[in-house]
Amino acid sequence: MLVVMKPQATPEEIQAVCRHIEQLGFRPHPLPGAQRTAIGITGNQGQVEPASLEELSGVAEVIPVSKPYKLVSRDVKEDNTIITFPGTNATIGGRDLAMIAGPCSVETREQAFAAAEQVAAAGAQFFRGGAYKPRTSPYAFQGLGEEALIILAEIRERFGLRIVTEAIDNEALELVDQYADVIQIGARNMQNYSLLRAAGRKRKPVLLKRGLAATLEEFLMAAEYIMSEGNYQVILCERGVRTFADHTRNTLDLSIVPAVQRLSHLPIIVDPSHGTGKRNKVIPLGRAAVAVGADGLIVEVHHAPDKALSDGAQSIYPEQFVELMQQSSQIAAILGRNVPHGIEITEAASVAH
Ligand code: PEP
Ligand code: MN
Repeated sequence: MLVVMKPQATPEEIQAVCRHIEQLGFRPHPLPGAQRTAIGITGNQGQVEPASLEELSGVAEVIPVSKPYKLVSRDVKEDNTIITFPGTNATIGGRDLAMIAGPCSVETREQAFAAAEQVAAAGAQFFRGGAYKPRTSPYAFQGLGEEALIILAEIRERFGLRIVTEAIDNEALELVDQYADVIQIGARNMQNYSLLRAAGRKRKPVLLKRGLAATLEEFLMAAEYIMSEGNYQVILCERGVRTFADHTRNTLDLSIVPAVQRLSHLPIIVDPSHGTGKRNKVIPLGRAAVAVGADGLIVEVHHAPDKALSDGAQSIYPEQFVELMQQSSQIAAILGRNVPHGIEITEAASVAH
């Protein structure tokens, strides 16, 4: 069920409708749009009786939502969600593309700083680097944990880059929430519903990666879990799915980008690194992702990929990232979009952090 408020509805009227929904035992999710506010209702197993809501002041209409997901849907919010990073010029989901780059894992301070310096110089606004790694083998490098998070926070301080890093479980989530700007939920955890709910109780943006074999609907339902807890800042990420193809690590499904954009207001970015698993395919598929209309890229960059402790084979060299940025910028221009030239920090941001 969705309550659509009149364009001229006042904040008091919106609040009164929310209170009414709470009194009925449900949870209201007011989502302001350019034209009007819509209020999603969750917590109801069956139909909410619309009559009592229709009569409230400021309500334009009450419409049933037939899709299994509500809050992620364009039915609830027509305009694209744009995530902002207060005190900086960085956004995700607007006209500007979000370029997120850095190593698969934070290995040492020197390694992470080397990558950060180079991706910042190339114009990235976001830095990625795993502190907690979900590895196939329990004997493979598992990440430096909090030590890596401290290094990442130093990188934000030094270069201004906003930090994206993965929380593999509820324990890691608490620490990632403290140090990072964006909480990444990995492909393997896309259906870890308790982790999704816990991330939904945080107030930092969540980058949700598509599961290895998830359908579009399963992917959107995972985002719905996060939003249903009140965190509306979700970024979807296509990172390839398992197929019979063996010339790449995964098959990057770029068709999901327009499919998501049709159904959902949430931003969607693409990871051509995990999506292909091969260095020589990262730039071509990165270009294709921008051309298909993705809201940004997340790319693994390492100054010495042959020595990387994880995902060296798919990590590109810093100079390749420069090339990808330049080409992305040209392709984005054709689409009326823009690749910003790096992060700009205002006074407020340094105080806020
Ligand atoms: C990663 O970003 O390093 C990662 C582990 O990604 P995914 O969850 O897509 O495999
Ligand atoms: Mn990786």
